Amino acid sequence: MTPILVHLVHICTRIVSPPRAHYAARVSLTPAQLADRVLAWYATHGRELPWRHTRDPYAILISEMMLQQTQADRVVERWTVWLERWPTAADLAAASRADVISAWQGLGYNRRAVSLHESARLLAEHGIPRDQAGWRALPGVGPYTAAAVCVLALDHDVIPLDVNVLRILERSLGVAEIEPPPGRAHDLTQGLFDLGATICLARIPRCGDCPLADLCPSRGQRYEPLRKQSRFEGSRRQARSRLLDQLRDAPRALGTFDPALAALLIRDGLAEQADGLLRLPR
Ligand code: SF4
Repeated sequence: MTPILVHLVHICTRIVSPPRAHYAARVSLTPAQLADRVLAWYATHGRELPWRHTRDPYAILISEMMLQQTQADRVVERWTVWLERWPTAADLAAASRADVISAWQGLGYNRRAVSLHESARLLAEHGIPRDQAGWRALPGVGPYTAAAVCVLALDHDVIPLDVNVLRILERSLGVAEIEPPPGRAHDLTQGLFDLGATICLARIPRCGDCPLADLCPSRGQRYEPLRKQSRFEGSRRQARSRLLDQLRDAPRALGTFDPALAALLIRDGLAEQADGLLRLPR
């Protein structure tokens, strides 16, 4: 595992139950066994999610952007409504920036709405990228999202590495990447997503229900968060988010808001100042 990825996994949790060395000496799982078992488990335990019924790269991109801050069950309705309103990248590109920012309300990190709108414009103009580099050239699309779109929409042989997938690989294999069996990357990715979301949980994994349990050296361990999340309540981020919510309702007259917060929104493309008002960008 590369040092950076090791750090990524370990910044989230540390082991609070006995070290696994004594168990690791007795069991070992191979990447091929992990793939076989996760694929078999996914075939019967996979979650029913609407974006799993499409291979449209634009629709997959929307789901991945929404899922970055919001749990899947809460994204289902938002994704469905979004796709009804803007079924193609061209439709989204033609929408006003204000409408897109308003529709993103409650999905977290509002700058993503701006990135998504800009990405839609580029997709509509230049077409669908066929490789990860092309996706990464879009605003707000990092290595994880590019890999996710490529495997879920375009059937590339790649496993996207989010925190959940890395956690499973590190705990069960002690590695930070896995080669998917030929032609199975799509289902293996979905299976790892589901295993990470429902079984191999960050703090108290449900090892008793895990298809890897009898060969996993981390079976039965407990973890605790290393870092507490920074408080949103009372933070500047919350104040900025509140001001944006107010703008979603109506423009604000100059002098009725904190100019420093307004400057941040303007910098991020989430607001503009015109005619003595602060408002969502047109
Ligand atoms: S046995 Fe436990 S720790 Fe190992 S992969 Fe399964 S849920 Fe995670």
